[in-house]
Amino acid sequence: MPSFLMQALCETLWPTRCALCDEPGSLLCARCTNELRYIDYYQACPTCGAPWGRIQCDACNAVAAQHKPLAAPCVSCLEYDACAAAIVKTYKDKGEQRLGDVMAAMMARVVRPSWISWAQAVTYVPATPEAVRRRGFDHAQVLAGAFAHEVGLPCIALVEQAGAADQRALGRSQRAANIAGRFRAPRAAGFDRVIAVDDVTTTGATLAGIQDALARMQCASRLVTFARV
Ligand SMILES: [Zn+2]
Ligand SMILES: [Zn+2]
Repeated sequence: MPSFLMQALCETLWPTRCALCDEPGSLLCARCTNELRYIDYYQACPTCGAPWGRIQCDACNAVAAQHKPLAAPCVSCLEYDACAAAIVKTYKDKGEQRLGDVMAAMMARVVRPSWISWAQAVTYVPATPEAVRRRGFDHAQVLAGAFAHEVGLPCIALVEQAGAADQRALGRSQRAANIAGRFRAPRAAGFDRVIAVDDVTTTGATLAGIQDALARMQCASRLVTFARV
């Protein structure tokens, strides 16, 4: 069967629905897209991307910095509210890979053009083999690939992780400890400016770990995530 017919058949049997309101027609309808809590670039912290940190950032001031690793400079697209969480969950855990394109397009709009001309490549941390088995795809690779396509840069897996415990079950300080030394970037030799992509910033520990691993290979990085807690 020609692929357009297959697509038409799939669309009839399982119509595309909005990840948030279930309305048929698109992966994220216009009304829901308009109601998302976008982080305002002019109000956000220029260092860590926290939504209200432009003048004084309580996420990365000196006191906070003692309690969690920081990753800078970082921008995120949305505040991590119930809607952002639902989009990420539909993408990652319900297997709606096409939502990666929607998320990547939103992320590309918050990245400064100067970052894109500065960077040589987009990179990401491949999901663990266990997570790929569970989800059926590497959510990080698909998102980073879609983002790279949006901004016209190559997407290369430069960072890898080695058998760390699942972050989701850990508290803040445990997360930081779990991250320490968890990432390596053996393939980053020869790169010195990359944009690293991730879906959600929780404490910044993962991003700081990625940035660290790249920095050990003399590779500077800027960071972009879809949503930020
Ligand atoms: Zn909707
Ligand atoms: Zn900050």
